Amino acid sequence: MSSPVDAKLRVAIIGSGPAGSYAAGHLLRHTATELHVDLYERLPTPWGLVRAGVAPDHPKIKSVTNLYERTAEHPRLRLFANVEFGRHVTLADLRRHYHAIVYAVGTPVDRAMGIPGEDLPGSYAATDFVGWYNGHPDFRNHQFDLSGERAVVIGAGNVALDVARMLVLTRAELAVTDIADHALEVLSNSGVREVVVVARRGPAQAAFTNPELRELGELSDADVTVDPDELRLGDGVADPNADPTALRNVEILREYSTRPLAGHTRRVALRFLLSPLALGGSGRVESVTLVRNALGLTADGSLRARATDEQLQIPAQAVFRAIGYRGTPLADVPFDAERELIANENGRVRRGEYVVGWAKRGPSGVIGTNKKDANETVGALLEDLAAGELLDPDPISDEALEQFVRERQPQLVDYGDWLAIDRRERALGEPAGRPRVKLTTVAELLDAIGWGGDD
Ligand SMILES: Cc1cc2nc3c(=O)[nH]c(=O)nc-3n(C[C@H](O)[C@H](O)[C@H](O)COP(=O)(O)OP(=O)(O)OC[C@H]3O[C@@H](n4cnc5c(N)ncnc54)[C@H](O)[C@@H]3O)c2cc1C
Repeated sequence: MSSPVDAKLRVAIIGSGPAGSYAAGHLLRHTATELHVDLYERLPTPWGLVRAGVAPDHPKIKSVTNLYERTAEHPRLRLFANVEFGRHVTLADLRRHYHAIVYAVGTPVDRAMGIPGEDLPGSYAATDFVGWYNGHPDFRNHQFDLSGERAVVIGAGNVALDVARMLVLTRAELAVTDIADHALEVLSNSGVREVVVVARRGPAQAAFTNPELRELGELSDADVTVDPDELRLGDGVADPNADPTALRNVEILREYSTRPLAGHTRRVALRFLLSPLALGGSGRVESVTLVRNALGLTADGSLRARATDEQLQIPAQAVFRAIGYRGTPLADVPFDAERELIANENGRVRRGEYVVGWAKRGPSGVIGTNKKDANETVGALLEDLAAGELLDPDPISDEALEQFVRERQPQLVDYGDWLAIDRRERALGEPAGRPRVKLTTVAELLDAIGWGGDD
C-alpha cells in the first residue's frame, strides 16, 4: 500500500508560457482532489513569449506575469526550469511519475515564404528578430544588418507591426525598456528610414488589433502612410468574416491615408493586396518583387487573394517575414503534420496526455485567449480524472521526484533561483530607470543564481 505522500496526484506541465501558467492555475484551484503540479521549462527563465515575444515597449502587457507569479508561489506547484522535455526528461520518464502530462510548448518556429532569394543575407525571420531584441538566449548571437535605408516586413498581424515599430522607435523610446542591450545598440544606430509592411489581402482582412494599429500613428519620430488607392482596392468585395475589429482597423487606416506627413525622420508605409514573389540581389537582399493581388470569393464563401499580372519591385536592404509561427514535433508525442500542432481533440492528445495554448490551436489569439483555452484542456483532464482514466504512475515522494530530475539536470532552476535572476536583472535596470536589464545567455542567467555560469 502506498503512503499518503506517495499517493499524491501529480501533473507535469511542459512549458511555462501563458498557456502552461493558466493551466497550472486552473489545476491548483480544483477543489475535489488536491493536484500537485510540476512546471517544466526549457529556459532558465519562465513565462514564455511574455518575456521573449511581447515587445519591450509594452510593459503593461508584460505585467500579466504578476498573476503567473502568484500561481508559481502556490505550495503545490514546483518550477523545474532549465529542464527540457525530450533532452533531460523523456515521455517515458514522465509517464512513470505523473498521472497526467500537459504540453504547453507553444509554436516556436517561423513559417517560410517559399520564394526565390529567401535565404539571401538580409532576409530574416521575425521569430529570430523578436527573440534577439527580447534577449532569448537562443538568438543572442544572431546578426541583423540594419545599415540600409529601407526594410520590408511581410505580414499583416501584430508581429509584423511589432517588428515595424521596433525598427522605427528612437533610442530614447527604446532605452527605457527591457530590450536586450545588444539590440538597443544595433537599433539605436540603425540606418533604416522607411519600413514597408506588406499585406497579402486588403485592409479589412488584416489581423492587426486596434490598439497596435493605432499605436503606429502615435510614434515620436515616425510617420505612418497608407496609399488611398490601395484602401479603395479592398472596397469592392464585402468580407463575410469582417468583425468589429476589422471594421475599426479600416477606419484607422482611412485616417492614416488622409493624414499629412509630420516630417519625422522615419516612416512606416502600410501596403495592401501585395504578395512577395522573390527577393533579389547579388550576394545579399537588394529588392523585393511583389505581385498585385485582387480579392475574390471562393466557392466555400471565404475571401482569397488572387495574383494579377501587375508586378512591382521595391528596393530594400532587409526583409523580415512575419507570416506566422508553427509547431515542431516533441519526441514520442503525436504530431499533426498538416496543422503543424500536437495532434489533439479539444486538448486531449491520448490517455493521460493533454495540450494547451499555441501548441494546441496554433499561433493565434492574445495572451488572454490562452486562459479560456486552458479551461477547456483542464476541464478534459478533470473529467478523465473523475472517470479514472489518467495514467497509473509508480508512487514516488516529492523529494525523490525532484532528486530524479536534478540527476538529469543538476542545474535545475527552481522558483527561488528564478527570483534571484529576476532580482539581479531588476537591480541592473534600476540606475537607468529601466524595468530590468536582461541577462541573455544561459551562463549569465545561472551566474545570477551564484552558480559560476556554465552553459
Ligand atoms: C512576437 C509576439 C508578440 C506578441 N505580443 C503579444 C502582445 O503584445 N499581447 C498579447 O496579448 N499577446 C501577444 N502575443 C501572443 C502571446 O505571446 C501568445 O498568445 C502566448 O505566448 C502563447 O502562449 P503559449 O504558452 O502557448 O506559448 P509560449 O508563450 O510560446 O510558451 C511556451 C513555453 O514552452 C517552453 N518550451 C518549449 N519547448 C519545451 C520543451 N521541450 N521542454 C520544456 N519547455 C519547453 C518555451 O521555452 C516557452 O517558455 C505575441 C506573440 C508573439 C509571437
